[in-house]
Amino acid sequence: MNQITAALLAWYDRCARVLPWRGIHDAYRTWVSEAMLQQTRVETVLSYYPRFLERFPTLPSLASASEEDVLKAWEGLGYYSRARNLWKGAKQVVDEYGGILPRDPEKLRRICGIGPYSAGAISSIAYDVPVPAVDGNVIRVISRLYGIRTDALEKETHGRIEKLAAGLVPADRPGDHNQAVMDLGATVCVPGTPDCNRCPLSSFCEAFHAGDAAELPVLPKAKPQKVIPYTVLLILSSGRVLMRMRTEKLLQGLWCFPMIEGQHSPEELQSLIRNILRLSTGTPVDSGDTRHVFTHRIWQMHICKTSAEAEASAPAGYEFIPLEKLKDLPLPAAMNAAVSVLRHQA
Ligand code: SF4
Repeated sequence: MNQITAALLAWYDRCARVLPWRGIHDAYRTWVSEAMLQQTRVETVLSYYPRFLERFPTLPSLASASEEDVLKAWEGLGYYSRARNLWKGAKQVVDEYGGILPRDPEKLRRICGIGPYSAGAISSIAYDVPVPAVDGNVIRVISRLYGIRTDALEKETHGRIEKLAAGLVPADRPGDHNQAVMDLGATVCVPGTPDCNRCPLSSFCEAFHAGDAAELPVLPKAKPQKVIPYTVLLILSSGRVLMRMRTEKLLQGLWCFPMIEGQHSPEELQSLIRNILRLSTGTPVDSGDTRHVFTHRIWQMHICKTSAEAEASAPAGYEFIPLEKLKDLPLPAAMNAAVSVLRHQA
């Protein structure tokens, strides 16, 4: 074992974060935790992870659930494609591997929802296979440790980072090593200014000695998010509200209220509702503004409420949902403000 790995494992033995998905050697649970942790803070995952596993305690139980049930259990965590892929992947594992995740990272990578990072994490943590799991934390730690000053996402540099990360993984305790790098990246070698005085690797670290750790890793500039204005329509009829299950890639399978791009006067809206949704309604009333930030876009939403005639029929692609059933549907966080308008005015 090289000196860097030994120092890191000694630190991990003293300072590892105590997390419910650690020390369990259960590939399904490792997979669920890794899927939840992508783009999401540990503190948030801590409340979702036990609830999800209570609902779907085994991989076959997840595979046999409905998509809507899985999205409901994921509600509020965001990035719903992770939940959909986890569900599809679980079906694939049942069909191809009898419900048990394989230990070979190459086989894991062919399962829906498992990329190179998750394959490395599952193989090493659940099955003790000595492979790396390269995520943003690892890219940051390796770039600083070895003083890599070219674009970390560019193919050649990324390949170099992967090779260096692989070279550090010990044959003994590979899962602990990978989790130690994740912990170091999350708690000490953090984005921005790292806490080098607390770092077990400072004596080996090129960026620490060069004094430019805060500038690494070098990453391409993020594009500014596009702001899209929407009007969210709460159209009520006989204790029901008009909704549709989204078929678009963004928030697919989740239920939203009708949305019209742009912001409009009440009279314009009334006529748009008549022309687009084929419903006659009263004049819509302003019910507040909200925004939801996605990775690449921001929905700037103006909420309006109105009523259609009693027992109105929903237009094609939409359903009138009884208000008491709203809590049973998977709804994205983007609809939270509109739901609370309904709750307060019910
Ligand atoms: S010394 Fe500083 S920059 Fe280097 S690995 Fe440790 S925390 Fe990161």
